[in-house]
Amino acid sequence: MTVTSVYKPPATPFAWPSNQNIRNGMKPHLIIGDFNSHNTTWGYSNNNKDGEEVELWALNQGLTLLHDAKQKPSFLSARWRRGYNPDLAFVTSRHSNTFEKLVLDPVPRSQHRPLAIDIRPIIRPHMGKPIKRFNFRKANWEKFTSMLDAAINSINACPDNYETFKNHVWKSATASIPRSGRKQYIPCLTEQSKTLYSEYKQAYENDPFAEDTIEIGESLLSSIGSEKRDRWQELITGIDLTHNSKKAWKTIKKLNSESNTNTSIPETTPNKVAHQLLLNGKPNNKPRGYKKKLKEDTNKIMNESSTQFPPFSIEEVDAGIKTIKLGKAAGIDGITPEMVHHLGPRAKEWITRLFNKCVITKKVPKVWKKTKVVALLKPGKDPKSPKSYRPISLLCVLYKLYERLIMTRISPIVDDQLSCDQAGFRPGRSCCGQVLNLTQFIEDGYENQLKTGAVFVDLTAAYDTVNHKALLFKVAKMIKNTTIIKVLESLLNNRQYFVEMNSKKSRWRLQKNGLPQGSVLAPMLFNIYTNDQPQFRNIRRFIYADDLCIATQSKTFEIIENRLTEALSILSGYYKQWFLNANPGKTQVCTFHLNNHQANRILRVKWENEELENTKFPVYLGVTLDRTLSFKEHMRKLKEKVASRNNLLRKLANSKWGTDPNTLKTTAVALCFSTAEYCAPVWARSCHASAVDAELNQACRTITGNLKPTPLPAVYRMASIAPPAIRRDTLTRQERDKQLSGSRHPLYGHQQPPQRLKSRKSFATTNGLDGSNPAQHRLEQWEIWDRSTFHPTVPPPSESLPNGTSFKRNEWVALNRARAKVGRTQDNLHKWGLVPQPTCPCGEPIQTMDHILRECTLGPHCTDQDLLDANQSASQWCQWWHEKI
Ligand SMILES: [Zn+2]
Repeated sequence: MTVTSVYKPPATPFAWPSNQNIRNGMKPHLIIGDFNSHNTTWGYSNNNKDGEEVELWALNQGLTLLHDAKQKPSFLSARWRRGYNPDLAFVTSRHSNTFEKLVLDPVPRSQHRPLAIDIRPIIRPHMGKPIKRFNFRKANWEKFTSMLDAAINSINACPDNYETFKNHVWKSATASIPRSGRKQYIPCLTEQSKTLYSEYKQAYENDPFAEDTIEIGESLLSSIGSEKRDRWQELITGIDLTHNSKKAWKTIKKLNSESNTNTSIPETTPNKVAHQLLLNGKPNNKPRGYKKKLKEDTNKIMNESSTQFPPFSIEEVDAGIKTIKLGKAAGIDGITPEMVHHLGPRAKEWITRLFNKCVITKKVPKVWKKTKVVALLKPGKDPKSPKSYRPISLLCVLYKLYERLIMTRISPIVDDQLSCDQAGFRPGRSCCGQVLNLTQFIEDGYENQLKTGAVFVDLTAAYDTVNHKALLFKVAKMIKNTTIIKVLESLLNNRQYFVEMNSKKSRWRLQKNGLPQGSVLAPMLFNIYTNDQPQFRNIRRFIYADDLCIATQSKTFEIIENRLTEALSILSGYYKQWFLNANPGKTQVCTFHLNNHQANRILRVKWENEELENTKFPVYLGVTLDRTLSFKEHMRKLKEKVASRNNLLRKLANSKWGTDPNTLKTTAVALCFSTAEYCAPVWARSCHASAVDAELNQACRTITGNLKPTPLPAVYRMASIAPPAIRRDTLTRQERDKQLSGSRHPLYGHQQPPQRLKSRKSFATTNGLDGSNPAQHRLEQWEIWDRSTFHPTVPPPSESLPNGTSFKRNEWVALNRARAKVGRTQDNLHKWGLVPQPTCPCGEPIQTMDHILRECTLGPHCTDQDLLDANQSASQWCQWWHEKI
């Protein structure tokens, strides 16, 4: 192995060694050092000339950057107070999978953190947790179902017998599902690959260098690879990665056999966190005598309410089970979602009877009221403070099912009575629709020459402070059904929890207030609880669950200030009455207007004797707004986010197992495009919208393996993804159709003010899809956009991948480079200043792509049609040329 150390001083141009030929060596080559160059690939917000040059050099030398966007930056600038990554490590691509870069803890007297390069074998045992776990992939579910069904007949369905039921479930599970307690295991080792592995070990004993040994080794790798691909596909299609990519990073590291670098040990105790949760639930003030009064009021309503509650049917239970997601943790009773999915007809009948018994007796199994809380450190927060941990409650799966059935019953009654300002957790409403609701209000203000002032109200731990008696009173008022009230009461009272961190447990605590987080009913109950929030004259409310924005419009700032201050003081009264804790410290104020002379005019709004902080860039439901709704800041942040996800995509493309084009495309769409298009109808018409396109183009190039200078129309065609702007336009039209035809859309029936400003294009001025379906529209627009491009070798626009997806990764890359006629030919390398002469080794003075495709005497030839078809000749051509172009 060769190691090269690099130092390039800042402000000095690169001088590359002239006779470098790293690409063709078989042995690993590691190049590490301070490159002093900027590129989004390694975490800068922009590329500079040096950065572009390094990228091109690495590409030409067949090197892969070792970079993990989730690791700490290697250099902390004292001057800029920010972290950067001037220190880079490259390794020959064919070895990149076995190298890993680690950024270590800082050492005194240097602004750089030390880097360590870890080299590991391709197959490596994974350190599992020492606890025994069910291996559902190897379960005998038929046995489980029949065993449990046979046992269940003898038990009477009632809450007190749940323990016996649970024991039967466990008995059947342990008899039919293997459990693994191994400390070490190789991820994705199936029965087939296990046999291959022992064959390989034996062959290796005989002769490690024999043809046979190598061959068995190859089929072992490909067998493990295909299993890994399946696992990845499962993850990518199973969960929504729009807002959080943590799970994807964790999985890819596990599948790549990388060590998990971020196993931080909590620096606080479970008891402290459990205590913090109790504190969160304490209201700042309690009005005296409220308990008696609330109880009386509730009873008064209940006396006039109905008690009707038809029993649950097996069909309702069945429908509920289908909504339970697999792969989630079990609650304290140890019954997992997988087991519930495999309940037999008798077990389902038993559960239905149990649920109905719970309704009649207003009791639930004791264990359902006990919750295990896992505390996770919020990113970037102090690990010493118990406030920095996010609690995740693990409720019993069957308890959640019971809640779901109740919710399905009451949700239609509730939804009819909720304020239309509330958009959280309601059928037919969405984040995007609600953000549009606010931004359209602001846009209308621009047209009417009115300024908009908005307060983004923050409540401390809103769900945790909900008072149970007050909640039941409000539910009683809305639902008017004694049975339901009593059933809900039986769920809320006497709940207990403990906190677990690093297998240490806190002691049990009683949860006096609050809605259990992770509960199916909680969001709806919270909506009921806050449905009587005050309304104000001349002020609009935009509510999403516990997220409230109040906004008002006027010609003058003073009127806005007065209205908002007054509204907040009324809100304060409401919050105090209902045990909610206002948080003026985190509440933000912002103005929206187009008068640049008054850009710095702040709003003086007071709340609870505190002057509220003004912000230039408030974040509403994940979208960063600004005074003129330019979305420049939003796009800057979005670009960074997508760039980080592109790193994950590249990691996948460099892995041994995730390189097939279909996997890469699905991943790019689920990981990069979903994030890049979140709430796109809100910001798609901004002149900064295309800022994110550079990253999306990069994602497309990662799928196809095309080089940066490749014309974009060809890249989109080969990645079979429509141009980003067209995708956003289609999403906008879809949302516009929803608004025009769906009476539940917050902008339904919106009255558009006459257009005064020619430069503004608000959502309400856009068009719908005109009856065509989204995919059809995307394709039509793409064809129009693509009409003037001429690429006879590239398949026409289509959203399914072109021929050749079964090629090996490096051949698929060569195929696409040949199709686009842009590759690392000597002609191009000469143009990019990387080689002194454009000559082909065959003697031809200029080595162009057409030359090596049709004339070169060194290798096989291939026609345009062959490339389109990806047939035998194309495959042979790619096999010959793949490392060279
Ligand atoms: Zn030639």
